[in-house]
Amino acid sequence: MIKKVGFIGWRGIVGSVLMRRMIEENNFENIDATFFSTSQIGSICPLFLGKNYILNDAYDFSLLKNMDIIVSCQGSEYTDIVYNKLRSLRWNGYWIDASSSLRMNNDSIIVLDPVNIQLIKKGIYNGIKTFVGGNCTVSLMLMALGGLFQNNLIESLIFSTYQAASGAGSKHIIELIRQMGYLYNIVSSDLNNISISILDIEKKISNSILELNFPKKQFGTSLAGNVLPWIDVFTESQQTKEEWKVQEEANKILNQKNNICIDGTCVRVGALRCHSQSFFIKLRKNLSCDNLTEIIQNHNDWIRVIPNDYKSTIKYLTPISVSGTLNISVGRIRKLNVGSNIFSVFTVGDQLLWGAAEPLRRILMLLLS
Ligand code: NAP
Repeated sequence: MIKKVGFIGWRGIVGSVLMRRMIEENNFENIDATFFSTSQIGSICPLFLGKNYILNDAYDFSLLKNMDIIVSCQGSEYTDIVYNKLRSLRWNGYWIDASSSLRMNNDSIIVLDPVNIQLIKKGIYNGIKTFVGGNCTVSLMLMALGGLFQNNLIESLIFSTYQAASGAGSKHIIELIRQMGYLYNIVSSDLNNISISILDIEKKISNSILELNFPKKQFGTSLAGNVLPWIDVFTESQQTKEEWKVQEEANKILNQKNNICIDGTCVRVGALRCHSQSFFIKLRKNLSCDNLTEIIQNHNDWIRVIPNDYKSTIKYLTPISVSGTLNISVGRIRKLNVGSNIFSVFTVGDQLLWGAAEPLRRILMLLLS
């Protein structure tokens, strides 16, 4: 029987990527899709040429209740308002969510099927109805280092992230582009003027960030020409919530009884799309670099090991080089000189694909099958 699937948040940046992937893979062929919006009720959904889907009210519970499956990429605020109420109305369908709201609930599974397909299948069999995408850096970390986790090789892990503007949503990516344009316009006529010192150009840029008109409503400051070592709210553990999520979500996805210790610093950088991460890995046993590389490479079909040289790194181990692809690039693999069994690895992946939309698309397909 064709299932009724409701989509909420399809216009956002995660939702847009999900829609694009589903169209690419012909995933709409065997579903009865209904599109919802919180802001554009009654308009026509612009996704599909030739078929007019009218946008429904995302808070219309009588309509939501009719869905077999709901996929929400709208955000935690929406999930917090709608999910419990819908369940209290005895809605027993599958809820698939991109937001963090339900991730740590006992009756939800964080989905990343190349890493935890057995857990997902067991959950479906046992009647779990709520499937949530993981935090983007967590999913990308597990895709990149899945072989090391699977072989129980990691004693502890320290990370530093380099997270793109789009990780914060559509409005943030637009603001970063506005900031870039604003700063360029301030000095564009000075760039070819050899009588103006480079120090004056830099000063002009730094001062302009303080101007009233400088666009900074979303980030609160400039991300262009800057890095922001703070993502999300503060927690009691002195970590930001983004940092807290890494150990908690990773261990839940891996279904670990004894937590693997993972900690580090999450940093927003001026990349538009794709998150990079630097890892320091303390292994439980001594391995050569070649052994380690082989274990990383063999974990899943999307890993691309990048040779530890300048040309390959600049070409293949950057946000630009993986943007819009499912590739997980892993490079700069080397044994560190600071102690035994300690390695460093640098990895980049598209946080909108494996870090958000793709695990949701795949769980939807699994549930439909
Ligand atoms: P987003 O781009 O801000 O979109 C969320 C909603 O904002 C849209 O569905 C849309 O709702 C509204 N919106 C307002 N202005 C918009 C504009 N200019 N363009 C498009 N939509 C606009 O948020 P998101 O980054 O996709 O995140 C959705 C959820 O996924 C969040 O819970 C987030 O934490 C989670 N997540 C995000 C990422 C990521 O890399 N961004 C990764 C993993 C998980 P209406 O159509 O109803 O107005």
